[in-house]
Amino acid sequence: MLLLSWLQNLAANLWRSLMNASRTETTFRESVDLMFNRAVALMDLAPGLEDKIRVCNSTYTVRFGVKMRGSIHTFTGYRSVHSEHLEPCKGGIRYSLSVNQDEAEALAALMTYKCALVETPFGGSKGGLRIDPREYDVDEMERITRRFAYELAKRDLIHPSQNVPAPDMGTGEREMAWIADQYARMNTTDINARACVTGKPPHAGGIQGRVEATGRGIQYALQEFFRHPEDVAEARLSGTLDGKRVVVQGLGNVGFHAAKFLSEEDGAIVVAVIEHDGALVCDDGLDIEAVGSWIKRHGGVTGYADAIHVKDGSKVLEKECDILIPAALEGVINLSNADRINAAMIIEAANGPVTAGADEILRSKSVPIIPDMYANAGGVTVSYFEWVKNLSHIRFGRMQRRQEEARHMLIVNELERLSDHLGDDWSLRGDFKEKYLRGAGELELVRSGLDDTMRGAYQAMRETWRSRNDVTDLRTAAYIVAIERVASSYEAKGL
Ligand code: GLU
Repeated sequence: MLLLSWLQNLAANLWRSLMNASRTETTFRESVDLMFNRAVALMDLAPGLEDKIRVCNSTYTVRFGVKMRGSIHTFTGYRSVHSEHLEPCKGGIRYSLSVNQDEAEALAALMTYKCALVETPFGGSKGGLRIDPREYDVDEMERITRRFAYELAKRDLIHPSQNVPAPDMGTGEREMAWIADQYARMNTTDINARACVTGKPPHAGGIQGRVEATGRGIQYALQEFFRHPEDVAEARLSGTLDGKRVVVQGLGNVGFHAAKFLSEEDGAIVVAVIEHDGALVCDDGLDIEAVGSWIKRHGGVTGYADAIHVKDGSKVLEKECDILIPAALEGVINLSNADRINAAMIIEAANGPVTAGADEILRSKSVPIIPDMYANAGGVTVSYFEWVKNLSHIRFGRMQRRQEEARHMLIVNELERLSDHLGDDWSLRGDFKEKYLRGAGELELVRSGLDDTMRGAYQAMRETWRSRNDVTDLRTAAYIVAIERVASSYEAKGL
């Protein structure tokens, strides 16, 4: 009996390997299109609308020179606008040597669907500069960024009501502050200049909680997933996040915050972290703060003492775990390794980490995937709050906070008066008064808005997943919800 089932397993594995070998890997852009096609095949869109939604409206390529170190250095950059059904368009600017037009267009398409899914009122866009930021010092980076921003702003590809960039791989608060300042210098009378870009530092028009936002969104997405025992059972798991073994690939801004919050606040155990120079493995759980500061100081994980260092990080991607969080590049889970992924479920913190081919293999193995367009939408959600803050020219909570405190104070005073009459047993418990009176500041409001957004979007996706027999995975459900919303917007306009 045992031998028979072993033979059957072997045959099934062989067959799967043969099938995978005969498949060819698609590019990132083709993967996005294939996933889009899977969803629209199940929808009833008006004739021609499918194509209108799928295509990228425009991509601007710019080549510009910056004089440095005694010669002119030429750089190539892109800004793709996928959909303008709502404006401004939104999406990050990436600095990396692998940036190219196809990638920018695929990422811009994902932004359209992402914004629709989490109901941020934007079209989708994305940009990038082909550069290795590590090769330049801060002054050089500032000059390059300002020049790139100038080229984009000149064509309204940076503009508070047309196109609002944000950080992405290789960029952060620093670059966004330069971009905002460059735009303001070119548009001295624009009172809304600060809303031309998001992800700025708080002292330069940014918002509290933007840096942590994408990682925080991953945490809220997983918390919501684990609120639905039926969904958790699809991953052959049960219970809560407490004690779940997590592998994180990429401890950049997104991976770091996701790992930190899940381990420090939800009791998850981060058993491995994979970086460009190998992986750290510790079955008792890694101290993410310590690993994060080691990487900051040494540029990688090599030499970190409190874990086993595995040189070949790709092997650790296949480690058995409950939750795998790819939080770095696109295409890391592909035809070559999908079959060996040993995670009960995957949450895509990066954009496009699972190729279309790998997605198919993982679906056949019934591994639930919480898709990128939902999972990493925390960033753009808090960008939306920042944009609204910039346009309203006032910090969230500034008008209400003390007034709310005063109203709560009335109740507390009244309760205290009553408890004085009723005796000691009726006095207010411990820190109740302090906690109850503490009005929400900007950070609390941002987190609450993000949590609400992540819960709502999951429920919309889930509703489609659970209510339709022809929708068997969360990704297809996410695409359907997003495409329906984009389609309604086009239809309402009469396009
Ligand atoms: N680059 C991030 C993303 O891919 C953030 C975009 C934004 O905030 O506009 O979602």
